[in-house]
Amino acid sequence: MRVTTAFNRMLGLPGAWVRDVEFGEGAMIVTVALRRKRPVCSGCGARGLKIKDRRVKRWRHLDQGGLRCVIECDLRRLYCPGCGDLPEHVEWARAGARYTRDFDDLTAWLAQQMSQTQITRLMRIGWETVGKILARVVAEKLDHGRLDRLSLIGVDEVSYGADHKFLTCVANHESGGIVWAAPGRNAASLQGFFDELSDQQKASIRAVSIDMSAGYENAIRDPDHGVPHAQVCFDPFHLVQLGGKACDQVRRDEYNLHGRSSTDTGKWIKGARYSLLKDTANQTPKQLLKLAEVVLTNKRMYRAFLLYGELRYIYRLPKDEAPERLDAWLAWASRSRLKPFVKLARTIRKHKAGVLAAIELGLSNECTSHCTSCCVCGGCVLGGGAGRMMTVGGGGRLVASAAVGGAGLVGVVEVGAAAVDPAAGDVPAALPDLDRLRADAELVGDLVECEHALGAEAVLVGGDAAVFA
Ligand SMILES: [Zn+2]
Repeated sequence: MRVTTAFNRMLGLPGAWVRDVEFGEGAMIVTVALRRKRPVCSGCGARGLKIKDRRVKRWRHLDQGGLRCVIECDLRRLYCPGCGDLPEHVEWARAGARYTRDFDDLTAWLAQQMSQTQITRLMRIGWETVGKILARVVAEKLDHGRLDRLSLIGVDEVSYGADHKFLTCVANHESGGIVWAAPGRNAASLQGFFDELSDQQKASIRAVSIDMSAGYENAIRDPDHGVPHAQVCFDPFHLVQLGGKACDQVRRDEYNLHGRSSTDTGKWIKGARYSLLKDTANQTPKQLLKLAEVVLTNKRMYRAFLLYGELRYIYRLPKDEAPERLDAWLAWASRSRLKPFVKLARTIRKHKAGVLAAIELGLSNECTSHCTSCCVCGGCVLGGGAGRMMTVGGGGRLVASAAVGGAGLVGVVEVGAAAVDPAAGDVPAALPDLDRLRADAELVGDLVECEHALGAEAVLVGGDAAVFA
């Protein structure tokens, strides 16, 4: 096979054939010729234009075998009445670019996967070149109808850069794509989005999901410039994030109370962080063991863990059960005697209509949010398998149930006191004063032995609660 034929097949440049290949220092130069005989304006696509002169143009192509690859072609310069003097159109590169389409496209794809600095090293291009390539690719691929017929949208901020600059992003919940972004994270940033919409585009917006920090809400409710007719929803993702923060605050308070890192208990509490925050399905055996120790020794932290788990679970329930469960949660949190949760309950109560609206519409900003460590609606709260629910026989009324994890603790179930089997009260000495919710609790079995991992026994049955493993 001839070298030129091999390169023709290897590079697959549209509209061109390879005439010659030369190897220089660290680079190969592939000279190609256009298949097309009659030139086309690279600005507007006009044909039959006057040829002014010819010039050799070069484009950087994807590296071949570790060598830089440069495409070279002799192009005709045209005079176009609409565009002025321009070189003719080539299919393998965008107008005005010094990089081929393949090179541009790969760089743009990489920009979605890694940082700009890494791209400059991998593609061997300058920092600013990455930006120019992105501008070119986005200008071509951007869907210009993306702001039409929006119905359910989410607004969220993402942080970027070492000094935490922010971008306000607007996502279309139905398509899952981001449709708009601008620097900043306040009412004015979002106002910029509404300003770009026509009245008709605004009218189609039915609901907007946001987090509870005020800024965005003012822009939405603005009667003149916002979308006051739209339902404001408070997005589950952020709500659950607040639940996680409250849970961690309880742990911090305990840590401070127990002499911080100067005591063994303090050190132990410090190490319990992930056992309390991580979905039990994703915890390591060591973390699960720690959780079991928490269950046995620190009632406040354990209660925080349960409150957090139940809050996450509310979003996984059938919609019609959510309002009642949220009320139950609010009541529970309010009298939990855990300050961070009492405060959170107050916040949620204030925004309850928006919280329930988000559940009703099934909206979550998870996809737009920068934080993916806590996953609510994507289905991973339950980990590998759906949580098994405790069923209460006899006259027991199943008030609430929360599957906290597929592999670890499986169900947190509130049952009417009458349904609790008194014979289950076999309290080991290891459990000094476990208080759970409103009533005394009794422990059955022993979590420390990791029985929960084997999925067997009831671990805790209490006045109004039962944890099964
Ligand atoms: Zn033209």
